[in-house]
Amino acid sequence: MGRDNCIFCQIIDKKISAELVYEDDELAAFRDINPQAPEHILIVPKQHIAKLSEMQDDEMPLIGKMYALAKKIAKENHFDETGYRLVLNEGKNGGQTIFHIHVHLLAGRRLMWPPG
Ligand code: 5GP
Ligand code: ZN
Repeated sequence: MGRDNCIFCQIIDKKISAELVYEDDELAAFRDINPQAPEHILIVPKQHIAKLSEMQDDEMPLIGKMYALAKKIAKENHFDETGYRLVLNEGKNGGQTIFHIHVHLLAGRRLMWPPG
């Protein structure tokens, strides 16, 4: 599973459409096709990295950049006023279905805890 058969790489490469909310050289953010909250945005690196457990040590700064972008999007959209949740699903038991690493930004309603 590499760039060619990865749905998020195809979104990043604009081969399939998505509602993009942010993009720079390293990162992209777009709306989830099946939102689990009134606001549900996915934050991804443009580089194809399947999952956290496969990340190299020298790639780890990307995680900080993804969280910094989540914080920026949350502030711009005033999600920070009521709160929000950031989620990274890892592997089968974590519920990961798309093997291109992503952080979910969920906002707009009171979220339950613990997750199901
Ligand atoms: P995961 O379960 O891997 O943590 O999350 C994958 C997310 O990607 C799901 O919330 C799912 O709704 C979303 N998703 C899957 N396919 C597409 C797509 O083609 N476009 C968009 N925008 N989101 C997608
Ligand atoms: Zn990919």
